[in-house]
Amino acid sequence: MAVNNIKEIEDLVKIISKLPGLGPKSAKRIVLKLINSREELIRPLTNTLAQVYKNVVRCKICGNLKSINSDCVCSSKKYEQICVVENIADMWVIQSSGIYKGHYHILGGTLPSFESKKNGSGLLIESLVNRVKKNQVKEVILATSTSVEGETTSHYVSDCLKETKVKITKLAKGVPVGGEIEFLDDGTLYSAFKNRNSIAND
Ligand SMILES: [Zn+2]
Repeated sequence: MAVNNIKEIEDLVKIISKLPGLGPKSAKRIVLKLINSREELIRPLTNTLAQVYKNVVRCKICGNLKSINSDCVCSSKKYEQICVVENIADMWVIQSSGIYKGHYHILGGTLPSFESKKNGSGLLIESLVNRVKKNQVKEVILATSTSVEGETTSHYVSDCLKETKVKITKLAKGVPVGGEIEFLDDGTLYSAFKNRNSIAND
């Protein structure tokens, strides 16, 4: 599909190709659809994107997305369980399965398996410890991936939580989480949650 060397269109195709699951071919198809629907798509999309850019930020306490105009879910009433995940995509998968309805803590990645872990490499770990203390949380469920980095991270997080005496559990072994969590069916996720193992302070 020729794009007639219009710089604006080429730039847009380039940006859209960076989205997950889209290559240059599908990006061009999307751009064409946009151009053919200026009022129905381009205008509302432009406005919505600007709003998201301006108003949606990552909460510095729990790592979730929040609107700058309202309090984050983590500051709402008391809660007894926190499920720790690596990223927002993992949280969305667990949420949409309906298996777990409690609060989440999004670390923002994993620790490298080989480097010094002294400062937690920018992950939201200190704020997790503070949340557990402040809310007198009864259980922290670690739902990090089964990769080396995921395991390193879950060890480190449970070490940091030791002083709080909170019960720490981990999703059942043999269940791929993290990178693969979005491909899990609800049944597998359900059994991973149901058969979670206690790893500390039981
Ligand atoms: Zn928050």
